[in-house]
Amino acid sequence: LAKRERHAVRRFQADLGQAAMEQLELGQALRRALENGELRLHYQPIVDAQTLEPVALEALVRWQHPQLGLLPPGRFIPVAETSGLMSPLSHWVLREACAQLSHLRARWPALRVTVNVAPQQFVEADFADQVSAALHDFGLDPKAVIIEVTEGAVVGDAGFLQAEELDSAGLDLALDDFGTGYSSISRLHQLPARWLKIDRSLIQDLRPVPERRSSRPIVRALITFAHEAGLQVVAEGVEDPQQLQELQDWGCDLLQGYLIARPQSPELLKL
Ligand code: C2E
Ligand code: CA
Ligand code: CA
Ligand code: CA
Repeated sequence: LAKRERHAVRRFQADLGQAAMEQLELGQALRRALENGELRLHYQPIVDAQTLEPVALEALVRWQHPQLGLLPPGRFIPVAETSGLMSPLSHWVLREACAQLSHLRARWPALRVTVNVAPQQFVEADFADQVSAALHDFGLDPKAVIIEVTEGAVVGDAGFLQAEELDSAGLDLALDDFGTGYSSISRLHQLPARWLKIDRSLIQDLRPVPERRSSRPIVRALITFAHEAGLQVVAEGVEDPQQLQELQDWGCDLLQGYLIARPQSPELLKL
């Protein structure tokens, strides 16, 4: 190798080593963060499409890192996954969401909270028990908490059974990010869910742009199919008034997005 190339290779190895090191350090720091209470939940309202009144709040986890500031989940969920921390993280999110909802319900008695659950946590044998325990400990009814999972988590046997168990315990499920990957629109009626959340990418593509087809027919069909199957539809990532207007016209049930409200810490929530 020429000297310049050798230098480039060493540089690359050094960067790789550093990236691995940062992951490792972040993993250890995340373990401490869980113990020291550095995780936070922010909440984004999900509103009735006609009245724009909040129906639920989606709990979205953040890490208040002492040096790096407030980190979004994209920065540390992958770290949690590779460090074996997803289970304790999920457990914390579930209980924190229940604790905060029980306070919020003093002012908004019908408010609900949605909690994101990764497929591996969803299929854990004791997941339904964890949920029941959290509801019990914070004095909440089963309709207070909606579990958000992607379709992939409920198509397998274990996921399907888990969904049925939660359903018979009275909980509602939301299918998150619907419309990405191979979504089974033809099997919607078989999926044990109450809400269907249309992925942000489909809402973004409603606006016709040159060289790119509008997602309008898909979104309208999804709403129709979901209603036929007895599901309510949530549109994610609503950012402009035209999207809002169209979704209202098409009978979409619920809306979520920056146009309505950004995720906020519970103290700053304006409902
Ligand atoms: P998600 O479940 O699809 O959550 C919605 C994401 O879209 C959130 O990003 C939210 O801030 C963002 N968002 C909402 N409205 C708009 C909008 O109008 N425009 C745009 N551009 N974005 C919008 P966030 O909080 O960074 O979360 C990213 C992902 O991290 C979530 O996607 C979810 O998959 C995951 N996540 C968040 N909290 C948890 C958690 O507690 N547990 C697990 N397992 N995953 C979580
Ligand atoms: Ca979600
Ligand atoms: Ca989503
Ligand atoms: Ca998403």
